Amino acid sequence: MNDNQLLRYSRHILLPQIGYEGQEKIVNSHALIVGAGGLGAPVALYLAASGVGKLTLCDFDVVDLTNLQRQIIHTTQSVGVNKAVSAQHAIDAINPDIVVQTIQQKSTEVEFAQLAENVDVVIDCSDNFATRYALNRVCLKLKKPLVSGAAIGFEGQITVFDFRNASSPCYHCLYPDVGSDAEMRCADNGVFAPLVGMIGTAQAAEALKLIMHLGESLQGRLLLLDTLSMQWRTIKLSRDHACAVCS
Ligand SMILES: [Zn+2]
Repeated sequence: MNDNQLLRYSRHILLPQIGYEGQEKIVNSHALIVGAGGLGAPVALYLAASGVGKLTLCDFDVVDLTNLQRQIIHTTQSVGVNKAVSAQHAIDAINPDIVVQTIQQKSTEVEFAQLAENVDVVIDCSDNFATRYALNRVCLKLKKPLVSGAAIGFEGQITVFDFRNASSPCYHCLYPDVGSDAEMRCADNGVFAPLVGMIGTAQAAEALKLIMHLGESLQGRLLLLDTLSMQWRTIKLSRDHACAVCS
C-alpha cells in the first residue's frame, strides 16, 4: 500500500483485528457482485470504499426511475444507463484505486463460473431464483464463499455458504424446490427502502470478513430481519444430506 492508501484505510488499519495485514488482504482481493440493484448498491459502495482491489459487477438492466427510491448507488442522471456502468461511475468517484469490470449482458451459468474462477468471494445481490441457484452451483463447484441476501416488502434475510468448508450447507439445502416461483422477481413487488441497505450492508460486512478470514461468518445461520418490528432472528441451517445439489 502507498501513503495515500495507508491514510485512506487508516480507520481499518487502526482496528487491531484488521491492521495492516487485514487491509492488505482487502486491497489484494477480488469480489464478484451479481446484481447492482437494491442489495448490490450498498455492497458495491462499501466494498469499494473499503478498498477491495477488484470488483466484477454484473447487471444487464438499466436504471429506471422506480429504482432510485432504494438503489442508492444510482443517480437521477443515470436513468437509462446500464446499472453496472452507473455503479462503476459512483465507485470511481469514491475510490479511483478500484479496478471495476462490468458485465452488462445476462450471464449464463458457464459465464458465471468463468467470472467466479479467480475471485475471493461471490455476493449474490440478484432478484430471481434462477440466478441464485446458478450461483450456488458455481460456488459449490469452485469452492468459493457465497454471501446470499434477499429482501422483499419489509423483510430480508442473509446467510453465507462458505464452500471452502465441506460442512457448509448450500442454497438448495435451504430452498430445495421453488417450483413455478423460480422466475418470481422481487423487483415486481414493493420494497421498504432502508431494508435493502441493511441487508446489503450486512452482506458487505460478511464479504470483508470472509476475505480476511476474520471472526465468525454466517455459515450455518440464516439471519432474518423484520423491519416493521425491527427484530433480527437467527435460524440454524444444516446441510441437507439428501440435497440434490451438494450431497
Ligand atoms: Zn445443498
